[in-house]
Amino acid sequence: AQRGETILELEGLIKRFGEFAAIDGVDMTVERGEFRSVIGPNGAGKTTLFNLISGALPVTSGTVRFDGDDITSMSPEARVRAGIGRSFQISNVFGGLSVRENVRLAAQANQQADYSIVQSLFKTTDRYSDINEATDRTLERVDLADLADVEANALAYGDRRRLEIGVVLAADPALVLLDEPTAGMSVEETRETIDLIEEVLVDQTLLLIEHDIELVMELSDRITVLNRGEVIAEGSPEGIAADQAVQDAYLGG
Ligand code: ADP
Repeated sequence: AQRGETILELEGLIKRFGEFAAIDGVDMTVERGEFRSVIGPNGAGKTTLFNLISGALPVTSGTVRFDGDDITSMSPEARVRAGIGRSFQISNVFGGLSVRENVRLAAQANQQADYSIVQSLFKTTDRYSDINEATDRTLERVDLADLADVEANALAYGDRRRLEIGVVLAADPALVLLDEPTAGMSVEETRETIDLIEEVLVDQTLLLIEHDIELVMELSDRITVLNRGEVIAEGSPEGIAADQAVQDAYLGG
C-alpha cells in the first residue's frame, strides 16, 4: 500500500430520492495519503455522497470501490471493518464507559474481524495482547493516556472530541470520513478542532465534507466541488478559489 495509489474510487454514482437525483453521476478518486475535501452549496449532495461511501444509504446505480474491492453492496459495519472510519456528526462514544473502555471496544471490534474461530479458541492470549496494544497505542496517539480511566461523560469538550477520533483510529482505518467537524462550534472550538485534525490525523487519508470554505482552503490537498449532485470542479485550493464555475455556483446559491 503506497502513498499515491487509489484508495477510493466512485464510478457513475447516482442516488435518487423518488424522481430527484441528489447525486447525479459522480466520478471521483481519492489517493492514499491525501486530504480531500468535498464542498458545495447547501443541497449540493455532500451528505448524500458521504452516506453512499459509508454505506448508510444504498446507491441507485454506480460503483463504490475501496482498496481495490467493489464495496457497493457492503453493510456499513463491514465497511468499517474494511477500513472506512467516520467521525464527528455521528457520535461513536458511550458516555457511561471510561475512555479506555471506549477505545478498547473499537479496537476489539476490529481485531475480531481478523481472527478465525479456531485462532480465537487457541490463541486468546495473543488476541488480548493485540487488543491491549492497539488500545494503548491509540490512547497515546490522541493524548488521552492520562485520562484513560475517566468516564466519557465527564470529559471536557475538547477531550471528548479527542476520544471520538480515538474510537475511529482504534479500528485502524485506511480512510477517515470527517463529517462537518466544526458544525455548530464557537470560533475557539473551531480552532481547537482544526489543530486536533492537523495534529492527530496528519498521516491519515482524509475525506472531509465542510461548508466552511476557509477551513477547507487551509487543510486540503485537493478539493472536489459538488453542485446539484454533479462534480463541477476539482483541484488544488488555489485552483478552486480561482474557478469561475465555482464562484457562480456559490453566488447563484
Ligand atoms: P448537502 O449535504 O450538500 O447540503 P444533501 O446531500 O443533504 O446536500 O442533500 C442533497 C439534496 O437531496 C437536497 O435537495 C435534499 O433535500 C435532498 N435529500 C437528501 N436526503 C433526502 C431524502 N432522504 N429524501 C428526499 N430528499 C433528500
